[in-house]
Parts: sequence; C-alpha cells; structure tokens
Amino acid sequence: MRVVLARKRARHPAVAKPPDWSGLMRILERERITLLHVPLPRPAQLVQYCGAWAILLDSQRSRRRDLFYACHELAHLWLHTNERDAFTRDTLDRSTEDEANTLAEQLMGKRDPVVRRFNMERRT
Ligand SMILES: [Zn+2]
Repeated sequence: MRVVLARKRARHPAVAKPPDWSGLMRILERERITLLHVPLPRPAQLVQYCGAWAILLDSQRSRRRDLFYACHELAHLWLHTNERDAFTRDTLDRSTEDEANTLAEQLMGKRDPVVRRFNMERRT
C-alpha cells in the first residue's frame, strides 16, 4: 500500500497533501475516472463500463461525506482493480474494505472528522 501511495504521489502532486474537492477532481481527471451522482442503495460504488472506471456517489445523501467516499472508491481502484470489475460493500470482504479505508485515510489525513466518524460507524 505504501508503494501505491508513493507512486500516486509522484504522479499527482495533489496526493502529497489531503485533497479538497477540486484537488480530487484533478486526480480523477488525470486518471480518466468519471464521477457521477446517481441514486444508489449504498453511499458509493466503483464500476467499470467499456473499459473506463466511474465512481458513483449516492445523490440522495448529504454531500458532506462525498470526499471520503470518493477517496475510498479511488483506493479500491488503485489497490484492487486487477481482481474484480466492480466493487460494492456487498461483495467485498472486510479486509479489502479495511485496506481501502486505510488508503483513503492516508489520502485525506487521519484527523479528518469525516474519517473519524466513518471509523466509529464501521465498528458497529
Ligand atoms: Zn469499499
């Protein structure tokens, strides 16, 4: 995971510090990842179509956590894309989710209040 983060930091200067929304958009643009807000039964999902990746965020939820969810899905893409075509909370095991959360936390900085809240919920 450290290797992945180091490689991505070299590619995206914005990864060097916790990205804000526009920083994340620049990373996604450079990686050719589409981000869409659509109604979903879960907070976020990573999907592949026609060889391109898209991060879907639930359009019915508060925008407040979008940055973390988008970083989490981006982490799946960076860490786990050789294994599956699509990632959802239903199909991934706990250790895969933990890896994505850990990388998302490293991207955003662990002090991010959204990350803290997410981790608290995750324990329940
Ligand atoms: Zn996940």
